[in-house]
Amino acid sequence: MKYVYFYGAGKAEGDGTMKEVLGGKGAGLAEMTKIGLPVPGGFTITTECCDYYLTHGNKYPASLRAEVKSNLARLERATKKKLGDANDPLLVSVRSGSARSMPGMMETILNLGLNSKSVEGLARNTKNERFAWDAYRRFVQMYSAVVIGLPKEALEEKLRAMKTRLGTKDDTQVPAEAWRELVGEYKEYFKSQTGQDFPEDPEEQLWGAIGAVFGSWNAEKAVTYRRVEKITGLLGTAVNVVQMVFGNIGDNSGTGVCFTRDPSTGEKTFYGDFLINAQGEDVVAGIRTPMHLTEMARLMPKVYKQLEKVRQLLEKHYRDMQDMEFTVEEGTLYMLQTRVGKRTPTATFKMAVDMAKEGLITKEMAIDRIKSEDIERLFYPVIDPSVPKAELAKRKIAEGINAVPGAAAGKAVFSAEEAEKMAAKGEKVILVRRETSPEDVGGMFVAQGIVTATGGKTSHAAVVARGWGKCCIVGCEKLDVDYSTNTATANGRKINEGDWITLDGNEGVVYEGAVKLSTPQLPPSFSTLMGWADGVRRLGIRTNADTPHDARKAREMGAEGIGLCRTEHMFFKDFEQPEKSVDRQLAIQEMIVAETPEARRKALAKLLPYQRRDFIGIFKAMDGFPVTIRLIDPPLHEFVPHDREKQEELARKIGVDVETIVRRVEQLHESNPMLGHRGCRLSITYPEILEMQVQAIVEAAVECKKSGAKVFPEIMHPLVMDKKELQILADATHRVAGEIVKKSGVKLEYMVGTMIEVPRAAILGDEIAEVAQFFSFGTNDLTQMTMGLSRDDAGRFLPDYVDEKKAGIFPDDPFQSLDVKGVGKLMKWCIERGRSVKPKLKLGICGEHGGDGPSVKFCHQVGLDYVSASPFRVPIARLAAAQAVIEERAAKKSGKKAGRKIK
Ligand code: PEP
Ligand code: MG
Repeated sequence: MKYVYFYGAGKAEGDGTMKEVLGGKGAGLAEMTKIGLPVPGGFTITTECCDYYLTHGNKYPASLRAEVKSNLARLERATKKKLGDANDPLLVSVRSGSARSMPGMMETILNLGLNSKSVEGLARNTKNERFAWDAYRRFVQMYSAVVIGLPKEALEEKLRAMKTRLGTKDDTQVPAEAWRELVGEYKEYFKSQTGQDFPEDPEEQLWGAIGAVFGSWNAEKAVTYRRVEKITGLLGTAVNVVQMVFGNIGDNSGTGVCFTRDPSTGEKTFYGDFLINAQGEDVVAGIRTPMHLTEMARLMPKVYKQLEKVRQLLEKHYRDMQDMEFTVEEGTLYMLQTRVGKRTPTATFKMAVDMAKEGLITKEMAIDRIKSEDIERLFYPVIDPSVPKAELAKRKIAEGINAVPGAAAGKAVFSAEEAEKMAAKGEKVILVRRETSPEDVGGMFVAQGIVTATGGKTSHAAVVARGWGKCCIVGCEKLDVDYSTNTATANGRKINEGDWITLDGNEGVVYEGAVKLSTPQLPPSFSTLMGWADGVRRLGIRTNADTPHDARKAREMGAEGIGLCRTEHMFFKDFEQPEKSVDRQLAIQEMIVAETPEARRKALAKLLPYQRRDFIGIFKAMDGFPVTIRLIDPPLHEFVPHDREKQEELARKIGVDVETIVRRVEQLHESNPMLGHRGCRLSITYPEILEMQVQAIVEAAVECKKSGAKVFPEIMHPLVMDKKELQILADATHRVAGEIVKKSGVKLEYMVGTMIEVPRAAILGDEIAEVAQFFSFGTNDLTQMTMGLSRDDAGRFLPDYVDEKKAGIFPDDPFQSLDVKGVGKLMKWCIERGRSVKPKLKLGICGEHGGDGPSVKFCHQVGLDYVSASPFRVPIARLAAAQAVIEERAAKKSGKKAGRKIK
């Protein structure tokens, strides 16, 4: 097996398609070499080798040593230098890089090959002793920490102490002699801790570094990052051994990170950070605040022009925005990395639409590029425009660089650990740091927003936060963060731990207190792209909405009807006339405690006008789109008070004695209410509830029709498990509706159907279809009952079932993403049987899964007519439905090709 792939001098053994084996960085370097870009030479040790190493007790495959040796020799020939040579040493970096980008999560060792002899050679060759000894101390520092595991803090402390002695804060002010002394101190410390001398032999150094990079795949922070980002199924990290080029030799050198388009706005402008006389990690770590590329264009016009060419070439080549790292060594440009760049959700839409319009990608590719999370994040809050400017000016604490837009408010915390602790208690927190490092990702993830005192738009904090669409401000230089007292001060104001602060990531401003936030306007590219998606999809997209307000919101989001209106939600609150809420609650409670059908009817009569008004509002909001209204579903005990005081109050209000209420509440008690007297079972035993609800629906529809509105009500019975049961309910529904329609003289089209929530109903789909005019899969209950998992209690143990590090039984929470294997199979069975009886049987889904991308794709595959999602998830469903078609087309195309091949 081949474990090592070489690239250099315009040739590469690998290419950009080999991400799985070479990692993103290795594949990118090979591809860039192939297309003729200036890339330093090197070789990549594969992820397969990492897998071998980690699964064989940290042992390398037998053939690896010879392969590395011959590739190193090849690199030495290509660069005309020898690793660690005393006169003109080849130095290498040893870098991680897996198939999926994990910024800063794994290890890198720079300047490898330096020892007490080659450092002198480097000093002579570059005529820069200061640089050479700085390079050496960086190497010793990194090697000691990363390969040997000596505490980073102890090494940093020696550096700080040295700078204090010299009276400087800036690395560039440290003279050669001081770096040389520091190397000596590091080596002494190394010996005192390990009992051995710091390795002089470059090959020994190289093998140490390779092992450390492989090992870093399983470091805590990398494992956490993969868990948070749901990265699974990778073999490990590749190791890239790359010729070092130096951006810190002098003022004609530098290093930078750039994006082919603006990752914040999506504008087609060249965007990036550059630091003169610095090494790559200085930009990423955000230790110094870098300059913009326009400034670089002024200072190094020739190199900038070359970089601009690279920008155009790479974007055309990869057909996507690229995030590139480069170094300028004494006026010569070297490309060190290219990868698809992370971007804000706004930029994601803008770039996809622009690139499709430019002809760089197809509209289908543009649709395919959007992820559910990109849509979710578009709806993140901003500072409410109603907050007066004067108030904001008063609250302003500090200003920084607007790295990731959005706004966030929370309590200030100064460590990732504290952020996690407080977030676990349900607190909203803002993480305030001097700078962030990969160790902080856990805390960054739970924070509402992040602010750092140093760094640019490509610093660690900015890159990680952008990936999550999380509001982030960096380079907030006036902010003096003091970890010893857990405070930050700026412009004479102090932030203590636990104080509320608000971040405006659009403007880059930190405010005192909790400022009012609101949801942003969508960018124009959002509606363009969603329009393209609508043109592609086959599935209808409806919404779950219970109020006219939600229905209107859902229409704005693109819903084409209501797939589920949970009528009982109207019992709790009057959304149009809130002062009437109490009346509604009393009416339903009176109905529940009633002991005779007459008393129940009397109470129901009070509810009727409320329900009718709600339905009229919903029908009007839906303006001719179908509206599925589900009759009462939850167990009745949910509506009555259980404590004595409230029971007495209810008794007073509805004029019955308290003992009657106590007795009824006791009667309603159930051991397993989810499997008890709920759903259509309520209408079987109390038909007067069904009668009132059907009357309200049909009268509302008739009234709308009379006023010229179009209405298509679909009356839906929940929790049905048997054909005869549904027949009784459907007969009653038709009887009540028929009488009203007949009396009104208007022509009303309506349907009567059922939810499929009980496995028995799914199994008997053919029988049920004889009665039902439509099925709507209630996959919340169907999941609960198929898996025997309580929807309300599973949170206590289900996380262990999903956590890869624990049991890892399910890939996802089955209440969030449909269990295709089990519940999906049952749905397919039901669909096939239902449609065998009624080929045109209308089929939908109204469980939460209707707003989950992968579940929507499944619904497309099994031939549902529509999915129904909560209003804010409607665009997610629209997108996923279009992607399902695109995936289907691609599969067909590749299937045909495969077929041809087989012939
Ligand atoms: C369902 O069970 O999937 C459903 C939509 O109904 P509810 O969530 O109201 O039980
Ligand atoms: Mg249900």
